[in-house]
Amino acid sequence: MNVSVKFLGGAGSVTGSRYLLTIDNFNVLLDAGLFQGLKELRLRNWHEFPVDPATIDAIIITHAHIDHVGYLPRLIKEGFTGPIYCTEPTADLMELTLMDSAKLQEEEAEFAKKKHYSKHENPEPLYRAEDVEDMLPLIRRKDTDQRIKISDRVEICFRQSGHLLGAAIVELFVKGDREEKKIVFSGDLGRDSDVMLYPPTPIDEADVLFIESTYGNKDNPAFDPEGDLERVVNDTVKNNGVLLIPAFAIGRTQVLLHYFHKLMKQDKVPDIPVYIDSPMAISATYLYYKHPKYHKLKDFNERVFAQEMETNMLVFVKNSQHSKSLNDLKGSAIIISSSGMMTGGRILHHMYHRLKNPQDTILVPGFQAEGTRGRRLVDGESTLRIFGQDVPVLCKVANMKSLSGHADREELFKWMKNFKKKPKVVFTIHGEGKDLEMYGQAIRERMGWNVMQPKYLQTVSLFEGI
Ligand SMILES: [Zn+2]
Repeated sequence: MNVSVKFLGGAGSVTGSRYLLTIDNFNVLLDAGLFQGLKELRLRNWHEFPVDPATIDAIIITHAHIDHVGYLPRLIKEGFTGPIYCTEPTADLMELTLMDSAKLQEEEAEFAKKKHYSKHENPEPLYRAEDVEDMLPLIRRKDTDQRIKISDRVEICFRQSGHLLGAAIVELFVKGDREEKKIVFSGDLGRDSDVMLYPPTPIDEADVLFIESTYGNKDNPAFDPEGDLERVVNDTVKNNGVLLIPAFAIGRTQVLLHYFHKLMKQDKVPDIPVYIDSPMAISATYLYYKHPKYHKLKDFNERVFAQEMETNMLVFVKNSQHSKSLNDLKGSAIIISSSGMMTGGRILHHMYHRLKNPQDTILVPGFQAEGTRGRRLVDGESTLRIFGQDVPVLCKVANMKSLSGHADREELFKWMKNFKKKPKVVFTIHGEGKDLEMYGQAIRERMGWNVMQPKYLQTVSLFEGI
């Protein structure tokens, strides 16, 4: 029996995670991510998929971020009909993120048509909401820590990775004619001491390891998000202003909520209204109640402590009329809205109205990529272009980097040190540029492992004649 892997993305890039394993005649795709960021990468979403989707037997998904699942509906559209394995929360979150993604794709195609900037007469979206709907019956929801048979010769097991609700490491077992081999995909690994999620599950052996590299060459800044938030909220309240926070709907919004709850309960900040102004963030928050097994905020009977996630004056803002009415809000309050990157969504109208107010504060959490509105804000630009107008930035701008959902260099090495023997080969995936090279070198030096940095579309034989 022979096993090989083809790198269809996430090789030399942090997006477009997709790895095709061929186990004799059985084709299984690990993740089906969308390429994001640079145009050169995004164009790959439009290339013909390197293998006929109808020939893929099964898909395994590690977690619901778009760079890991965003291509899935396209594969359905192009003829994939097999099972899609993932954890329960991933299945639920995926429905949210992919429906949202389909809507964005449809809007983009519509916009291109109106503005005539597409080469095509009738620009088509990558996929539509119908394709997401067609995908839903293919999803197989699986528990963690259990072996699941996906073919006569292949079994998988999901282990919590602590990166996002339901995010998993995948162990894959291949029964050869003579011996069993184990392949491990780390997926994205979370933090060691996340306030809501469990640390990544230790794995102690693998014949082949695919290790993520996102922060492989970076150390996360000192970890005191609670202290950072306390300072920013109190400063805003002193100015009798509104604190506006652009935040990712899944994960970051809930972590912020939990911290605000804690700070208010301990009287470290005043009890002021908190508005969650994002339909996706509201739906995602409910999913934390639905899946208590996958996070820490619960009692001994596995019931979620609502009071651990909810502040006293918490408002879920569902319709857009209510959202716009928040523009008249004066005095101390917190508004959390998306998109986290300030590229679209309700956050834009909030920014349009709030940036001009000297008493208000905008808190930009996390790293902001070059060329984004967030980066310009953090860099102190005096105006920001929103809805075709240059809006003066007169409010206070705070930046907070201590809320990362990714393991940093030392946390990645700590996880690798759980291995009791050397894997035969280790592939560094989901990373880019010089950082990726230095990370690979550090693994060679510190672990003594055989590291390979795969290239896009490269095929590598993993086992022959097993
Ligand atoms: Zn991720």
